Amino acid sequence: MHDDTRTVHAGRHPQRHHGMVNPPVYHASTVLCASMAEWERKRRDWVEEAPGVYHYGRHGTPTTEALQEAVAELEGGYRTLIYPSGLAACAGAILSCVCAGDHLLVTDSVYGPTRSFASRFLARFGVETTFFDPLVGAGIEALFRPNTRAVYLESPGSLTLEVQDVPAIATLARARGARVIIDNTWATPLYFKPFRHGVDFSVHSGTKYVVGHSDALMGLVTVGRDAWPLLKATTFGLGQTAGPDDVYLAQRGLRTLAVRMRQHWTSGLVLADWFARQPEVERVIHPARPQDPGNALWKRDFLGACGLFSVLLKPVPQAAFAAFVDALALFGIGASWGGYESLIVPFDLTEIRTATRWEHPGQCFRIHAGLEDAGDLCRDLESGFEAMRARVRTLGAAPAGG
Ligand SMILES: *Cc1c(COP(=O)(O)O)cnc(C)c1O
Repeated sequence: MHDDTRTVHAGRHPQRHHGMVNPPVYHASTVLCASMAEWERKRRDWVEEAPGVYHYGRHGTPTTEALQEAVAELEGGYRTLIYPSGLAACAGAILSCVCAGDHLLVTDSVYGPTRSFASRFLARFGVETTFFDPLVGAGIEALFRPNTRAVYLESPGSLTLEVQDVPAIATLARARGARVIIDNTWATPLYFKPFRHGVDFSVHSGTKYVVGHSDALMGLVTVGRDAWPLLKATTFGLGQTAGPDDVYLAQRGLRTLAVRMRQHWTSGLVLADWFARQPEVERVIHPARPQDPGNALWKRDFLGACGLFSVLLKPVPQAAFAAFVDALALFGIGASWGGYESLIVPFDLTEIRTATRWEHPGQCFRIHAGLEDAGDLCRDLESGFEAMRARVRTLGAAPAGG
């Protein structure tokens, strides 16, 4: 079955819900039993993970099951569990793999708050983290220690979008008995199939493209069969779940994911090509462009691209850069992404990376191509760049020190 068909049908069971197309939104904590016998049967069935057995709201309802089933199917994994945010899902996946005294390998291009979780939070519990160059490939072998329990990947990486050699890293990790976790948010469950590439845990900030409308937070962790007991024990131990209305919004967003992603992908490339033609631009980072250093791995392992990419400018006065950003009418200035609207966010990684050096002298920003008309977006960028050029000219004309 094609993924377009899967996004429409996976996890939906109208016959169980009076023929309604969409799953019901169950607001539920207590689940009542009609008799002692049912109480005991449910406890037994639940322990055995019989499908469709509900015994407590936190552990699942027909609403959460609809989303989980659909995501697991799209990811090609065994089971998915819901977290209240993407960051909570990143933390839940890592906590499923490590104990006090363990060592964790994390890509240097990891999402910032996940980096803090590893280097600050986990350190308090005796887990040591080593960050590694996202382009290390098979060279990661030298970083393993006897107590390395997990390798945490994010491909392409946050902001700088390095594509990682997931199969090479996963093969080495498996040989050493370490679990492989990937943050798969950029690719969505459609464009990278983690379980075909040796991954054990796939994490999504469902907040981004799955929800797709910037109106709910959501985290998703999917596992292959043999990691399921670890994920289940950790997630239930932490008491992680999400509210039914947000779960419903994520389930609803998923139904249009395939058509939305094609538009994000197409418009993202149009905008990236536009930037690449501007003389002020030093480099566009977009793995789906043939010029990109990540393009070969992207072509080998990915099935598509989203609307998120980065741009590095040649140095301009900061006031001119601000004039560009402030002149944009269609691009919001904001950090989250994956909604229907276009965004821009400036970034500077000089103080952040530890395994690699980030030494770009010019301004850097990340673009999210939304679902607006790509021509309108390019015209907006054009007027932004005109504002930047005008500011450069006035600054150049000002007397020194004026
Ligand atoms: C946004 C993001 C997260 C965190 O998701 P939230 O739902 O905002 O907590 C994690 N990983 C990546 C790659 C992200 O972009």
